[in-house]
Order: sequence, then C-alpha cells, then structure tokens
Amino acid sequence: MELLRKDVLSQPINDTVFKIAAQAKEAKLKYGNDKVVDATIGCLADEQGNLVAFKSVYKHFDEVKDADKAAYAKSFAGNKEYRDKVLSWVLEDKITDLSTAVIATPGGTGADYLTISSFLDSGMEIMVPEIAWTSYQLMAAQNGLEIVSYPLFQGHHFATSSFKEIATRIMHTQHKLLVILNDPCHNPTGYSLTTEEWTDITEFLSGLSCQGQVIILNDIAYIDYSYNLNTSRDYLRCFNYLANKVTVIIAFSCSKTLTAYGFRLGAAIILNKDPEVVKTIATVYERDARAIWSNVNNGGMLTFPQVISDPQFLLEKQTYINLMHQRSALFLKEADENDLPCYPYKEGFFITLAVDPKNLDQYHEALMAKQIHTVKVNKGIRLAICSLPLNQISGLAKRMKEIYSITFPQA
Ligand code: PLP
Repeated sequence: MELLRKDVLSQPINDTVFKIAAQAKEAKLKYGNDKVVDATIGCLADEQGNLVAFKSVYKHFDEVKDADKAAYAKSFAGNKEYRDKVLSWVLEDKITDLSTAVIATPGGTGADYLTISSFLDSGMEIMVPEIAWTSYQLMAAQNGLEIVSYPLFQGHHFATSSFKEIATRIMHTQHKLLVILNDPCHNPTGYSLTTEEWTDITEFLSGLSCQGQVIILNDIAYIDYSYNLNTSRDYLRCFNYLANKVTVIIAFSCSKTLTAYGFRLGAAIILNKDPEVVKTIATVYERDARAIWSNVNNGGMLTFPQVISDPQFLLEKQTYINLMHQRSALFLKEADENDLPCYPYKEGFFITLAVDPKNLDQYHEALMAKQIHTVKVNKGIRLAICSLPLNQISGLAKRMKEIYSITFPQA
C-alpha cells in the first residue's frame, strides 16, 4: 500500500521567483547592494530598497484590539462588513444589472484556487494566458486540468482573434469554458486591455454561451496600481451586458492593495444575472473555505474598512504609483533607445522583455553573471520595477542590450 493517495502530485514546486530572489539576496550580501540589480521581488520597495508597508494600513491594524486579532472571523465566508466594503471598493458603481456575492479568501490565491477547482471536471481544458503568473499552472495541475495557453499579443495589442479561435474550439469540444483574464496590470507584462477590447471579448463570450456555460476568472491583483485610477474600473461595466450563462469571478487581493502580503487576505466576487446561480456558487465556495482554511484573518478584515476610508491611504498609495510610473517610463525610454524589445507595457508592477525562447536560459544566466537578477517567464525576462530604485534603472536597458549582443553575437 502506497503512503500517499494514488493521484497525489508529489513533484517539488519549482518556484522560479522565490528561488531566484533568494540567490539575488545572497549576491547582495556578498557584493553589496549597489553592485547587484535585484529585479526579482514582486513587492513594492522604496528608493532605498526597503519593502513598503503603508503607515495608513498598519496604524489601523495596530488600533484593532488584541482580542479581535486573536478571534476567529464571524463567518466562514468572511465578516459581513469586510465583504460589503470589498464589494463597494472593487465595483464602485459600475455593476448595476447583476447579482453579487463575496467570499473572503486567503489572498487572491484563495479566490483563484476556488474558481479553478470548482467549475471544470478533471481532464477538461482551462484557458490561461501564454505568459502568466505561474501559480495558475500549479492550481490547474492540482485539479487534473489541461492548460490551453492563449497568445497575449498581436503586435502591440491583445490577440483577440486567437483568443476567440481557442475559446470556440474548447467550447465546441467540452461545452463549458473557464478563461483566466489577469487584467488590468497583467503580471508579468504590464498590459491592460482597453475597454473596447473588453467589450469585444465579453460580447463574444456572451454569444458563445449559447453552447454552454462560460466562466471568466478576472484576476485583478494589481488593479489598485493602475496609472489612471479614474478609468481603471470602467471595463467592469461590460459585465452588465453578459448573457445569463456567463459567470464572472473577480479575484481581489489585499496583498498588493494594502501592501499586506502576509495578511493573506482577499476575496472572490461572484457575478451573474441570476441570483440563484450566485447563491449556488457562494455555497460551494463557503463549503470549500470551511474545509480548506476555515476562515481568514480577522484582524485584517477589521482593518480593511478603516483603511479604505482614510484619505491618507490613497495619498500614500498614489506616491508609489507615481514612483512606479517614473521607474517604468525611464526603463521603457532607455529600452527604446537601445532597441531592447519589451512586451506592450501600460502599467503595473512588472515589465517583461520579449526574448526568443531558445535563447532564454542562456540570456538569463548571462544577466545573472553580471549581477542583474531577473525572473524567467515563458518567452521573456521579467523585471520587477515595483522594487527597483531609479538609480539602478538608469543605464540598465543599455547594459541588458549589451549582454544580449555579447551572448548572441549573430542575433
Ligand atoms: N494573481 C496574480 C497575478 C499575482 O501575481 C498574485 C501574487 O503575486 C496573486 C494573484 C495572489 O496574491 P495573494 O495571494 O498574495 O493575494
């Protein structure tokens, strides 16, 4: 008799980010911070390289009574006030024609996992962006799903026609479609779909739903760092026009919004025309929550409403949005001047260089040998500009181009 369940997945996690980040940290200890470019860490850091922890968040967290921090949450689905505030924070006034429910989850990860595990049967296909946050792969594998990657770009725009072709093919074979759209501020390219692209996609998926159920997993982990917060949620209005058989799950993360990665707090926001459908999904998610993590961080849930109504929080967050804007603009300008190809970046924590997959491993190694630490992703090299100070960005694109030219002289 085997020790573990027959179908358990026992391969060690190959987490490229955490491993490479640890190597970069070691290099900094050995050579000194100013000799090492560490573009691996996907958390906001200030110009001195310190992890940013918003004062306006931790002030309110400190005001929560110890007994409340120690207590269990009021419900497996999360405290009501937290869920209500998440709903109004994320959706603002954009959703007018849909039923909604919110389930508190441990980070955006919890919301993504509930969704990836709840709709498709083992062996079915799930649509995931070709360049993506790697945890989706792990979650799909845990649930016996086959990943079908869709290309992200056609030139400098979203590859809508490939998206439609792949979705049509999957719907034709399995009569159900689960598609992940990590937008706005896609990790790792920094692309955000235009409202026109969202309209086109949602109209298309509504049409497709006459052949079967469609589920859109809209992962908004980085939405609150959009460079234009006045318009970044406009696309949500497209969801009002979805057909009955299209469900949207929005995966929200407090990790980035509050600079509170260790809170392990987020939410799944369920949207559908039919209140009964929303209720059924919420019941399933709540059962899973109870079985897997029971309930989420009570102190964090009590902190959230206080933080989002504090004007200091918006000011503090805006300071870092402006800083990231400056950092990305500098890198992209120099990348352009040095003919270093990048995927179409608009906003967010990461910029990704477009690299021929056959050269990727060698280029990544060559960069590391010159103490430029980055993360390899499918078809590219990810730079976490969220944690790179401006003085290290200046001249970086030129150096990266030179290293490429020396490593691949014939290219
Ligand atoms: N989605 C994306 C695209 C991410 O990059 C991350 C974290 O890096 C998450 C979701 C989940 O983060 P958390 O579980 O900390 O909220």
